[in-house]
Amino acid sequence: MNNSNKVVLVIEDTESNMKLFQHVLRLHGYNILHAKDGIQGWELAREHRPDLILMDIQLPDISGLAVTKLLKDDEDLKSIPIIAVTAFALEGDEEKMLNGGCDAYVPKPISIPRFLQTLERLVAEQPSNLPECELKTAQPVK
Ligand code: MN
Repeated sequence: MNNSNKVVLVIEDTESNMKLFQHVLRLHGYNILHAKDGIQGWELAREHRPDLILMDIQLPDISGLAVTKLLKDDEDLKSIPIIAVTAFALEGDEEKMLNGGCDAYVPKPISIPRFLQTLERLVAEQPSNLPECELKTAQPVK
């Protein structure tokens, strides 16, 4: 896949995670934008309209869920797929991510193959035809 025209916005405040994402994304030909907090991420998204956003949930200013809500409430930006990245899930976090409009979820520590699979699927999808969030399919069937 030629990703040279694809832009991924990484909103991540932890340096080591950022370096990992940069390394993997560059290796696979993506262009990268980087924000270290939620507001900067929101501003970069509005300015550049990336093809996909990698969203850390724990950020120093506003949470990744709050940034997701800002993006999904914006008619011009809501079609951008968002992959939530978080080290842990407190009770209720999964539901919050679903309600907040995340398109997929990748847990830390990052599994690179799984991360790339999710990323490439979302980048290849038409924005209007996004599959249900992985969290939904991960819910136990009642
Ligand atoms: Mn963080």
